[in-house]
Amino acid sequence: MDGKRLDGREPNELRPIKMEVGVLQRADGSSYVEWGKNKALATVYGPRECHPRHLQESHRAILQVRYNMASFSVEDRKRPGPDRRSTEISKVTQEALEPVLFLGRYPRSSIDLNIEILQADAGTRCTGINAAALALADAGIPMRDLVVAVAAGKVDGQVVLDLNKKEDNMGEADLPMAITSRDKKITLLQMDGHLTQDEFKQAMDLCLGVVDQVNEIQRKALMDKYSGK
Ligand code: ADP
Repeated sequence: MDGKRLDGREPNELRPIKMEVGVLQRADGSSYVEWGKNKALATVYGPRECHPRHLQESHRAILQVRYNMASFSVEDRKRPGPDRRSTEISKVTQEALEPVLFLGRYPRSSIDLNIEILQADAGTRCTGINAAALALADAGIPMRDLVVAVAAGKVDGQVVLDLNKKEDNMGEADLPMAITSRDKKITLLQMDGHLTQDEFKQAMDLCLGVVDQVNEIQRKALMDKYSGK
């Protein structure tokens, strides 16, 4: 199948994206991201004393991530509280972001990152990672680079970028990725479903192809706050 998708997008077209930083006064860093119908709020506290203490590392800070989907974020109310899925997403989010942070500068400390998904429509781990990168930058945490996250997948036999929930439901595969914005290093790569080797490459290329585009929106959000506008 060629041509437009259910929501009228081209195969390589992202959903509409809005990003804002510094949205909460009492967090050290914060951001709000809308990615299609996904809505995510990220907050960062720290570097600060590490609790629980047994997680402390003598030579570096740790990044503690809590990804949470609000019970009203999905069509049928989600049971509140942590579950296997949120534990998994918190872990992969931590791993996607740690490579760009200068954690060695803050021994024994913790950087605490909360990601709240207020509305979910597939691709929330990516939306959360994009928001998290902004909140970390807003908190003034020294970073080598920003991180961009985006997914591609296969729907109706066609490899397409950035599946929404309807596409995800009927899709054959989903491949979320996180990529550092300058060096294009991959810090997250997961796959749900099946892709041939060729389709896998196409999906990766679709993601890599929009890193600069997403990064531009992230940079603009930071500039909007920090250039005093
Ligand atoms: P991601 O949000 O990163 O794509 P998944 O592939 O696990 O992660 O989930 C896809 C979508 O399925 C979510 O964005 C959300 O819209 C929906 N979803 C996930 N978990 C639940 C749940 N417990 N109840 C209802 N919908 C859910």
